[in-house]
Amino acid sequence: MNIHEYQAKALLKTYGAPVADGVAIFSADEAEAAAKKLPGPLYVVKSQIHAGGRGKGKFKELGPDAKGGVRLAKSIEDVVANAKEMLGHTLVTKQTGPAGKQVNRLYIEDGADIDRELYLSILVDRSVGKVAFVVSTEGGMDIETVAHDTPEKIITVDIDPAVGVTAINSAALSDALKLEGAAREDAAKLFPVLYKAFVEKDMALLEVNPLIVMTNGHLRVLDAKVSFDGNALFRHEDIVALRDATEEDAKEIEAHKYDLAYVALDGNIGCMVNGAGLAMATMDIIKLYGAEPANFLDVGGGASKEKVTAAFKIITADPAVEGILVNIFGGIMKCDVIAEGVLAAVKEVGLKVPLVVRLEGTNVELGKKIINESGLNVISADDLDDAAQKIVKAVKGA
Ligand code: GDP
Ligand code: MG
Repeated sequence: MNIHEYQAKALLKTYGAPVADGVAIFSADEAEAAAKKLPGPLYVVKSQIHAGGRGKGKFKELGPDAKGGVRLAKSIEDVVANAKEMLGHTLVTKQTGPAGKQVNRLYIEDGADIDRELYLSILVDRSVGKVAFVVSTEGGMDIETVAHDTPEKIITVDIDPAVGVTAINSAALSDALKLEGAAREDAAKLFPVLYKAFVEKDMALLEVNPLIVMTNGHLRVLDAKVSFDGNALFRHEDIVALRDATEEDAKEIEAHKYDLAYVALDGNIGCMVNGAGLAMATMDIIKLYGAEPANFLDVGGGASKEKVTAAFKIITADPAVEGILVNIFGGIMKCDVIAEGVLAAVKEVGLKVPLVVRLEGTNVELGKKIINESGLNVISADDLDDAAQKIVKAVKGA
């Protein structure tokens, strides 16, 4: 789960990280009051969307010459004018994809005078089984480009979970970032604080790009992107409360309600499968036959008719889906339950695309009978290979 920059900064502030004062707003009417709470004379008006690259992003509606999604303002009037221009418009950045994201919230922040922009992130480094800091002096820009062109400028320091961030770790990070004086002292406090927040809140990623050295020599967290481990959210009600559903895939939210393991993908063949392994295999075989899955969907072992119906509805609601493959191995799950679920869903939402069903296992005969006698235009398949070939052919031929 992701949160907005302003929420991430508020969270990091509670741990003692240096962040600027700021006020989040939802409408342009609030801009003036928000700016008045800040000292000035420099303000920053920041689009709050769950995507980076906002500074260099472009608003779809405003034309190529308009400024990006992060703007400096030199007066309260300027803050208000920018807020009016930005709110409600669609920001397209390197990370949003061409559709962009609508800006519904802005963060009005006290502006900083920047000397240097650095990069810092904390993540779980699976290759060493530890939490690691990744830092670079090349902050503020696209870190992927830095990693590609000058990989030697990215330094990784892993943290021993038994002791946390040591003075040696801090020194190594500060050396890598070429920090001196006040900035180095700030860093020695900041690194353990960020690590503590990361571990306590079960973060999956904490990215500060840029971490800045200000002209007064001190450090400040200028941007913050935080993702949390979804499997640990049950123990963080405070984090769950920060969820902004408008930023998430509506289909994934719906799937979550029914406890379905669903991930939206870019292809056009919707898949309904039971078991994560079989779902992965189904996606692989669709690709093998030259097509792309529209989703990963595991209805689970003991799915009810309601759950299957919900799953089917989620798949058909995706306009990209041009064909559906139901692939069920009935072990705990019974094939007739799946068949009834599919029929119930089709009755409710209709069937506008080809549907291939492959059933095998418990009550398979009954399941097949239910489908065959339904009068629906269902293509039945005998095994996984046959099923994949049939759905790919049906979609490509359509
Ligand atoms: P991103 O483009 O989505 O990564 O948004 P950032 O929060 O990283 O802001 C983009 C850029 O705007 C930064 O790299 C800075 O160069 C600039 N910027 C952001 N806040 C300030 C500020 O307080 N003062 C100044 N001078 N520049 C800022
Ligand atoms: Mg940034």
